[in-house]
Amino acid sequence: MQRLNSPFLRFGALSIICLGGLIANGCTSGKATHAADPASDTQKIAKKPLAKNVILFVGDGMGVSTVTAARIFDGQSQGKLGEEHSLAFEDFDNVALIKTYNLNAQVPDSAGTATAIMSGFKTNIGTVNVKANTPFGGCGDIPAPPTLAEIASDADKSVGIISTARITHATPAAVFAHAMYRGWEADRDIKGPAAENGCVSIAAQLVDPTTPIDLALGGGLNEFTDAQFTAWDNQGAEHVVVKTGTDFDALAGDAGQNVLGLFGESHMDYEADRESKGDQPSLAEMTAFAIDNLSSRDSDGFVLMVEAGRVDHAHHGTNAYRALRDMQALNEAVKTALSKTSSEDTLILVTADHSHVFTMSGYPVRGNPILGLVRSHDRSTGQPSPDPALADDKKPYTTLGYQNGGNVRLPDSPPLTDNVVQAPDFRQQVAVPLGSETHAGEDVPLYGTGPGSEKIRGVMEQNEIHDVMIEAMGIK
Ligand SMILES: [Zn+2]
Repeated sequence: MQRLNSPFLRFGALSIICLGGLIANGCTSGKATHAADPASDTQKIAKKPLAKNVILFVGDGMGVSTVTAARIFDGQSQGKLGEEHSLAFEDFDNVALIKTYNLNAQVPDSAGTATAIMSGFKTNIGTVNVKANTPFGGCGDIPAPPTLAEIASDADKSVGIISTARITHATPAAVFAHAMYRGWEADRDIKGPAAENGCVSIAAQLVDPTTPIDLALGGGLNEFTDAQFTAWDNQGAEHVVVKTGTDFDALAGDAGQNVLGLFGESHMDYEADRESKGDQPSLAEMTAFAIDNLSSRDSDGFVLMVEAGRVDHAHHGTNAYRALRDMQALNEAVKTALSKTSSEDTLILVTADHSHVFTMSGYPVRGNPILGLVRSHDRSTGQPSPDPALADDKKPYTTLGYQNGGNVRLPDSPPLTDNVVQAPDFRQQVAVPLGSETHAGEDVPLYGTGPGSEKIRGVMEQNEIHDVMIEAMGIK
């Protein structure tokens, strides 16, 4: 099934604009034809197609600077200059900026932001699907609005989650779990008052017989107990647990199995290390499997959340190379989803939970290696200088850097060289010394295509992403 271009969506959006009072201002040419027949337009709007399926991609920490750098990185890896290149989702028709603040935090974390995206309400930093006014110290499950998985499951849709982070990590957890603290990933994390109150770990919530999750692929093997694997298996013959890429590959073609696939003790490997380190599927391979698996079950459709979870982790380590390689993996997964679905019945969204203090700066010439030292134009000739530009300390510097983090270059640090800065393990220079680089508070992008994506425009609150998905599926 080929994904179709979506002239219909542009057409539909224009019809709405015309009905919205702009007729007098001139809905021109072909558009005017529809404006001249309001009844017909009303009928068209009433029959607006619903999204049978929703696929939500989350690039964890994918701020605008990350998208720009990844675009150039991906383009340069194809032999282009890079700046003119586009990632697959940058061609989507509908784009908005998303305000990411948590209810009690100017710069957010993934738990609060993922709750906004998945469940439609802003909450406190560090909490998963728990209302901000929930008394501290409890389990955080009262009152609890339904999760995205519960809403979709109640509408008879299948639900899948994929993450290259632990599947119990904040973003995938926000699809299905309630937890007063995002760190309650495993049973061993439930201590003190939480244990006394009988709070349930995110892992336990995932494998509970009442779970609305039909398919879960990611890392986090050590977050589960043997009893929890058994609990998943015992839900029926169609429930299987796989722990290696080889076993996962062997499942291909077996339609409709409820697969719990865990491919790493903690997070899955970075894309840059995946093939050399272990036996793990790629994000695109997991996405392809999930779409085949979920769409084979019934005709009611599915909701699938796919997280490139380790863009965030590479940024925290000020390692731009691995962040950009994981962005490429996200881009390949999006391409996979586009090729396996139709724009007529599948809404595809790509967004981030929050940004990072990741910058792209200096005045490098066009086509300068994105991981490289800045080389500017020679002011005397107007031509690209063969020598790196020098900072006030007379040392070269890179285009990519971080406002804070753990890699402060000291005055006696040796000058950077091309070989050093383009090596995979190079950690970019930072301004403010912190043990771990932090998230950033500026808006992040949201890209959308398919039914319902016309609602994506302007500057939006993050919790409105949930509304876009729910309304696109026609769920009240
Ligand atoms: Zn983070």
